[in-house]
Amino acid sequence: MKRIYLDHSATTPVDPEVAELMMKYYVEYYGNPSSVHFFGRQVKKALEEAREQVAQLIGAQPSEIIFTSGGTESDNLAIQGTVRARNNKGKHLITTAIEHHAVLDAFKYLAKNGYDLTILPVDEEGIVSVEDVSKAIRPDTILISVMHANNEVGSIQPIAEIGKIARENGVLFHVDAVQSLGKLPIDVVSMNIDLLSISSHKIYGPKGVGALYVRRGVKISPLVFGGSQERKLRSGTENAPGIIGFGKACELAGLRMEEENKKLYYLRDKLIDGILKKIPQVKLNGPLGDKRLPNNVNVSIKYVEGESLLLSLDMIGVAASSGSACTSGSLDPSHVLLAMGISHEVAHGSLRFSLGRQNTEEDIDFVLQELPKIVDRLRAMSPLYKSDASSV
Ligand SMILES: *Cc1c(COP(=O)(O)O)cnc(C)c1O
Repeated sequence: MKRIYLDHSATTPVDPEVAELMMKYYVEYYGNPSSVHFFGRQVKKALEEAREQVAQLIGAQPSEIIFTSGGTESDNLAIQGTVRARNNKGKHLITTAIEHHAVLDAFKYLAKNGYDLTILPVDEEGIVSVEDVSKAIRPDTILISVMHANNEVGSIQPIAEIGKIARENGVLFHVDAVQSLGKLPIDVVSMNIDLLSISSHKIYGPKGVGALYVRRGVKISPLVFGGSQERKLRSGTENAPGIIGFGKACELAGLRMEEENKKLYYLRDKLIDGILKKIPQVKLNGPLGDKRLPNNVNVSIKYVEGESLLLSLDMIGVAASSGSACTSGSLDPSHVLLAMGISHEVAHGSLRFSLGRQNTEEDIDFVLQELPKIVDRLRAMSPLYKSDASSV
């Protein structure tokens, strides 16, 4: 059976060029980058090259890049690190209802421990209002955190506008750009971003590596103490092969972004249009056009469970994800869809396809051929569908 991977927002395969480079730093160039001898210096040099490659993709200086274990750690370092460093300046924090749990749960922990948290709503397309951000700022606000692009519905947030307001008000601005890196242009300078989280495994790099951009002059406190690596902000021997792979993945993403996006936009819109045309009672979740990530498709298929759809698709070799995938085990509907005003019932039938580098038009054609059949079969078994249909 041919397997079709349409879950690139969960993770991506490592690019062969990246994997090949990393292999050398496991078996051949294995020194500790902090060592002064040849073995260490060799790795240190490659590490600094990776820092330049990462910095270049987001318009930063290499010295502003702190390597971490991934997006989750970067989000936590940004949020908890800011709070620890700015404790005396205020206790008010602002974020949105559609953030990744790495952001939302870090803030909720702080809210339980004496901080005041404002969680901003989003509109029906999953986009936060700049005016709402502006109105929420108080004299004691110390941090605003808004993601660049949402991982579930692909909605792109007005980051540059929010950055301007944050800067004007002297409030630090953190952006989770894990999903937009390599897909949307990012310029931390013109967007007035102070802290930016990114992750390697969402852009064809290895898992367990990420970075936090910390604008020069911004003070945050470390969460991990020890050997003083990464400007004392992230102690511990660097994951050198991982970081070097991440650097390469950033370089490749920058080179390929434009061409790759053309293909992704085309396949994305073909999949969206096809699903809406071929399956009745379907709703597209999230915005259209350039307000949406080039690789994201999210639909709610009424009268079926997202989990049943996933399992049926998996049986024919298609890998997708449902709204509750991130908290697998729990079948709570997605907090993102609920924040967009979608009912529990409709949210339960949601399905996300996230496209990537290796997908072809044949992949999309196959899904468009098979998904309507799966939906028909599942709906035929649904008592809700029957009673609703007969009452029409
Ligand atoms: C995947 C993801 C994360 C977490 O990144 P990890 O590297 O897996 O820890 C954070 N934020 C968003 C938006 C993500 O999609």
